[in-house]
Amino acid sequence: MTDTKKTEAFGTEVSELLQLIIHSLYSHPEIFIRELISNSSDALDKLKIESLTNAALLPEGYEPQVRITPDKEARTLTISDNGIGMTLDEVRENIGTIAHSGTKAFIAASKELKERPELIGQFGVGFYSAFIVADKVTVETQKAGESEGTRWESDGKGTFTTEPVTRPEGTGTTITLHLKPAGEEEGDLEDYTDEWVIKRTIKKHSDFIAYPIVMAVSKQKPVGEAKEGEEQQYEDVIEDETLNSQKALWLRSPSEVSDEEYNEFYKQISRDFTDPLKTVHYRAEGTVEFSALLYVPGMKPWNYDYENSEKGLNLYVKRVLIMSDCEDLLPLHLRFMKGVIDSSDLSLNVSRELLQRNRQIVTIRKAVTTRIYKMLGELMKEDREKYEQFWKNFGVTLKEGIVREPDSKEKVLPLGLFRTTAGEGLVTLEEYVERMKDGQESIYYIFGASHEALTNSPHLEKLREKEYEVILFSDPIDEFIIPQLDKFEERTFVSITDAELDLDSEVEKAEKEEVLKEAKRKFEPVMDVIRARLQEDIKEVRLSKRLKDSPVCLVEDGQVPSAQLEALYRQMGQELPKVKRILEINPEHPVFDKMLGLEKPVQENWADILYGQALLSEGAALPDPAGFSKKIATLMAAG
Ligand code: ADP
Repeated sequence: MTDTKKTEAFGTEVSELLQLIIHSLYSHPEIFIRELISNSSDALDKLKIESLTNAALLPEGYEPQVRITPDKEARTLTISDNGIGMTLDEVRENIGTIAHSGTKAFIAASKELKERPELIGQFGVGFYSAFIVADKVTVETQKAGESEGTRWESDGKGTFTTEPVTRPEGTGTTITLHLKPAGEEEGDLEDYTDEWVIKRTIKKHSDFIAYPIVMAVSKQKPVGEAKEGEEQQYEDVIEDETLNSQKALWLRSPSEVSDEEYNEFYKQISRDFTDPLKTVHYRAEGTVEFSALLYVPGMKPWNYDYENSEKGLNLYVKRVLIMSDCEDLLPLHLRFMKGVIDSSDLSLNVSRELLQRNRQIVTIRKAVTTRIYKMLGELMKEDREKYEQFWKNFGVTLKEGIVREPDSKEKVLPLGLFRTTAGEGLVTLEEYVERMKDGQESIYYIFGASHEALTNSPHLEKLREKEYEVILFSDPIDEFIIPQLDKFEERTFVSITDAELDLDSEVEKAEKEEVLKEAKRKFEPVMDVIRARLQEDIKEVRLSKRLKDSPVCLVEDGQVPSAQLEALYRQMGQELPKVKRILEINPEHPVFDKMLGLEKPVQENWADILYGQALLSEGAALPDPAGFSKKIATLMAAG
């Protein structure tokens, strides 16, 4: 045992964080109870899970619990648990020197937090909230399996001390808050040593915590039985009272649970502070029986896109938590879902490693996945506005399903919302097919870097004229989805930048044949010049049947990687072989008539400019912007 007391400075970010918390949360001081109890609950979960494989960690007669002890005279409030505890190093890391992932994000969001302090819960900086109500905090903790503990103490003003301590209680953590003065005035702190204040706060914020939160309270008990005519005598006795209901909501019948209870429970498991967008609660009977309580969040968690953000559902076996954030219960593209699965058919000691291959888990995963698709489909039909909100937050994640699992493609496609040329609104494929024009056979789409560039793309001209709707794909992930698209309701997906695009009916083709032949003969000399001039960049020059107003566009002969994808490969140190495209020219555009009468060197300059325009019109970068600009200036001077 090292018996030195050490003083250390908080990490700079931690210091900053502490100040922020104290200042942004003074109007919601009571949340410190929720934060500390939720840490205790996590610690109890962790010990329970560890003990599944190491039963020796639990003392005899172990009963997990959180205990609250107010002391009016000393003005302290103590919150203790018999959970996993922390080692000295863990104490230093967790509540001292190292800023965790949440801290930076929290500091970045601090401005918003000043207005909406309730946001804090989701940042995982809960422990420091103790300093909103306390001017000194003492933590005594002992890690499961260790024989000595650590005492940590700080006034939250820049430094903390650590020293070894013996804990008669053994494993667990005790946090003692030396409370700041309370008062009666508006804006004063409430008295957190007051039983009623404590009870009310716990009921409000921690009612669903799965472990008993107990407090010793004094009660009046009748002494014996009063004889006739005599007054009943009472005595004060101290008794433990459990302050939370610990309701396993998911095991109750949906008709017995109120929306409010569902929402509160959601907030406790998700750290979200807003109501969920949608709740699904059901009991599945069949080969594997289980209860599921699932939520679609109303907003995207702040750390949703981080590598280590919590994904997955909490897995219970008969009310006993086996694993939180269990990723095997859902495919990755449904990782936005929150909730609980409880099955009595699973063994209590399923291990994390074996879970993936566990037959029951596979069955549950399949059933839950199907149910979520069904729920989303219904939401789309019943409340489009809500569904669009969902899509805005998690549509990109859901779309991953098309790429990740060929099996889920058919389920996910009908759930997709797409932007199209029809207007600002989002469109489902079903809606698209429903309003296809007479004579339109395919589902048309175009992919590009930005929505704005797409809306003005020359490739759309002919389709506009025919009033064919075109899906505008501009999410980076769309590029990976497109190769997976073949058909929807028997209609083929067709890229409008494909060289083979054929929009004309047989009649139209016959009508145009002569005109085209004539144009071809007329413009062949110009096309020859362009072909020779641009041979490094393009594969072919030909007359366009898809342009109306623009002079030129580039089309693809088969699959061509986009500029973004090429850049991505280049970043990874790989050069994709250059795929040349076809330059289409619009014979009806006056520029080509003019071009016929020019000298060859001028024609060549024009060819360069036309190629540059084709690139620009699809939002691509020019290989030589300065040269292009010079050529335009020369042209203007000549004109
Ligand atoms: P968060 O709980 O979001 O991680 P906190 O600042 O509240 O953030 O806690 C930091 C870490 O300190 C926790 O992740 C946990 O590892 C540890 N910790 C806090 N309270 C306890 C406790 N009662 N028992 C064991 N570990 C704890």
